[in-house]
Amino acid sequence: MPILSQSLVDEIVQNCINSYRKLPKTGKPVDNEWTVLSCIVQYDIVGKSHEVVSLGTGSKCIGAKNMSSQGNILNDSHAEVIARRGFLLYLYENVTNLIENRQSIFLNDGFKYTLKENIEFVFYSSQMPCGDASIIPKSGDSSDIGDLISKLGKREAQDDLCDVSTKKMKPDIHRTGAKCLLNNQQDPRDAGLNYHLVGQVRTKPGRGDRTLSVSCSDKISRWIHCGIQGSLLDMLLNMPVFIKHFIFGSGVPYSEEILNRALLKRESEINIEDRLKEIPDFYRSSLIFQHIRTDINERPAAGSIVCIKTKNRLLEVVVQGKKLGVTKKRAKDLSSSVSISKYSLYKKFMEVLQKNKELMAHICGTESIETIPYNEMKRKAIQYQIQWNRTKEVFFKSWTLKPDIWNFCVDKVT
Ligand SMILES: [Zn+2]
Repeated sequence: MPILSQSLVDEIVQNCINSYRKLPKTGKPVDNEWTVLSCIVQYDIVGKSHEVVSLGTGSKCIGAKNMSSQGNILNDSHAEVIARRGFLLYLYENVTNLIENRQSIFLNDGFKYTLKENIEFVFYSSQMPCGDASIIPKSGDSSDIGDLISKLGKREAQDDLCDVSTKKMKPDIHRTGAKCLLNNQQDPRDAGLNYHLVGQVRTKPGRGDRTLSVSCSDKISRWIHCGIQGSLLDMLLNMPVFIKHFIFGSGVPYSEEILNRALLKRESEINIEDRLKEIPDFYRSSLIFQHIRTDINERPAAGSIVCIKTKNRLLEVVVQGKKLGVTKKRAKDLSSSVSISKYSLYKKFMEVLQKNKELMAHICGTESIETIPYNEMKRKAIQYQIQWNRTKEVFFKSWTLKPDIWNFCVDKVT
């Protein structure tokens, strides 16, 4: 049973949109551009208060050739992913706060940490995630053929979409730019309902060379199955962190049935209750984000904004995976990478472990922490890896093949 009332849903989204409006112009869409807004909102179920703790915008993703084995370039700058990575930083900061006796969302519980019982997290996004959740049957009202009319001309579009004898709309679907994995079955691209395969893991569209980042539908499904904290934080926490409520904006296609298919069910034969520790609820806000795409001729904004509620509010703009405003010379310095890069987040992880020697010994044994590369450290998250392998087996069946290039170490941790 959904727990949030419609008025609370709209109040939370208004909070997200206000947080976006208050940000400076840099990184926001200019004329003829659109973007996606995603936020993670902390909800206090006792105090009934909510606050945006991480905000992300954007819809860009770099190709395989531009990935950096140093972990200093962000591969995926879709709003959902930016907001999630910002949220990881927020979680690290809260663990540090607890260790240093400041206010925190966590409690000490053994030598690891547990989220306070009154805290829940809500995920808001101004539109449905790319990939499987964007393959939605068209409702048949005239707003659905807007894109095609501007592309083909009105007459042609109507011929294409309407059955001439009955003058009724032919059934059709909204499409996604995300592509089926190479070596897997591909979309038939037939007219109408059979354009796409459904239930597939897909990679994000990108300019030129192919991206290896999976669609937001796939990533969100992973967060729902394994927790949003990822493998490194999983080793610091007693329990994964699950998003309880997902809210999507108005003015764009929406279907609760499709969200259930794409994020919770796919083609899995295993009962949802047996697969998921927490089953999230889905909601649609009645509020429309001001920069949704309304015309086929609009371009996506080049930048992604990340804004995180940390001690000193963190605000950065990311363009092509790098922090905007960093000189070429400084860009080579790994500590100038975006605060949510693999490099920066690994550094945060190591800083926390330096402050909790018991946990460090538990994770690293006798190895010196500075000598453990990022990818090797992630493999130490045994519980997380078990859950992730099981999820791939029973839910996704296949996953993108990213080369395991991230064997970088972080030095000079204070
Ligand atoms: Zn996306």
